[in-house]
Amino acid sequence: MVIKMRKRRIALLLIPALIISGLAVFFVRYAENRQAWAMSVYNRGIYSSGQLITGNIYDRNGIMLSKVEDGVRRFASDETIRRATAHATGDINGNIGTGALKAFTSELVGYNIITGINNGRSDLYLTIDSELNRTAYEALGGYSGTVAVVNYKTGEILCMVSTPSCDPVSSETAEGDGVYLNRFLSASYTPGSVFKIITLIAALEEIPDIMEREFACNGSVEIDGEAVNCHSVHGTLKIEDAFAQSCNCAFAEIAIELGDDTIIEYAESLGLTSSVDIDGIQTASGSFDTAENDRYTAWLGIGQYRDLVNPASMLRLVSAIANGGAAPEFRLISGQGTALLSFIDAMEHRGDRSERLVSSATSEQMTAMMDYNVYSNYGDGNFPGLELCAKSGTAEVGGDKAPHSWFVGFITNEEYPLAFVVVSENGGSGAGTAGRIANTVLQSAIAGGE
Ligand SMILES: [Zn+2]
Repeated sequence: MVIKMRKRRIALLLIPALIISGLAVFFVRYAENRQAWAMSVYNRGIYSSGQLITGNIYDRNGIMLSKVEDGVRRFASDETIRRATAHATGDINGNIGTGALKAFTSELVGYNIITGINNGRSDLYLTIDSELNRTAYEALGGYSGTVAVVNYKTGEILCMVSTPSCDPVSSETAEGDGVYLNRFLSASYTPGSVFKIITLIAALEEIPDIMEREFACNGSVEIDGEAVNCHSVHGTLKIEDAFAQSCNCAFAEIAIELGDDTIIEYAESLGLTSSVDIDGIQTASGSFDTAENDRYTAWLGIGQYRDLVNPASMLRLVSAIANGGAAPEFRLISGQGTALLSFIDAMEHRGDRSERLVSSATSEQMTAMMDYNVYSNYGDGNFPGLELCAKSGTAEVGGDKAPHSWFVGFITNEEYPLAFVVVSENGGSGAGTAGRIANTVLQSAIAGGE
């Protein structure tokens, strides 16, 4: 009798215990998987035929970029705007993995940890200006490449264009080389002479008398029995002219003095080998190989060895230089439609989340030198009224292909704290092709009051 009682009591105690532990397991799994369950492709309130049918996307000025109407996803009515913003919004089939429709699904669904799905919809405001994207898209013309502009004080990305692009509303697979790849976020290129920014930062910090040195350029220098060629005969020059003229002989000498390990250490500490997190999107990271001899070290410092650089990380570096040495946290989401989510977003972005890449003294020196580049070499007249600091790159890509054209830099005028990167693939001269594109986009940004 006593034994029977005990068994019943144990059984009675066991049942609620099992229920409680079962519930606990359920709640843990629910918390872990809630987002995945809520946003499953099979959730018919959110997806239809694999397409996200909830959530509207606007640019920073409230211009509609993508909207759901009667259960159908639509995009901007203007085709050029659609193509210019395709990599920011994403396409209807979800081929562009870094587009908002894929990367910001939880924001578009209105999911958040506190309220779960919020009526199944939310308005998402991006930081980009669709008209500025249009200008950049048209300025790139027929070139493949990318243009991006960021406010280096706030980190807001105002312009982000990648070409070739596609019409995001089309359900047909787009033809072309890497159409769905956002070259700003996900590509990496041979940097060519824009890499001299990194070599120069290392030289300013590691070679005490660098500002007093004189370099000699006869158009070519022999290293390890082979010539490292310069694009001109520069004669005797100081470091600021070596940088402005992008003299390979001077930078070969500097690179060998620094050594490949030091140059690569600087590339790492300046953020070129790590991925940048932009509202959860991970950018591609660059890569550098150690050089087995002095000649390769020279080419490493010139940006022509096996160097690969992602445009977003280069933009982050010049943003840091512009901002006194601290890289702002890059952002693509400017706000969301519901008050609670906007509040959470604002809380997340409270305080200074920038990261120091360069000392303020070095960034001041770099600003002066990049200012001198425009004044002495690229020509202020080609960038009227911009107060521009810049560095060009003409990156040899081998074979009989024209070099990639790079132009990076920033505006010093506090009213327009804009930094930019332009890459036009096989565009030829950096200051020429990419420089012209940069000027067109920056003039438009200023006229638009960015
Ligand atoms: Zn030279």
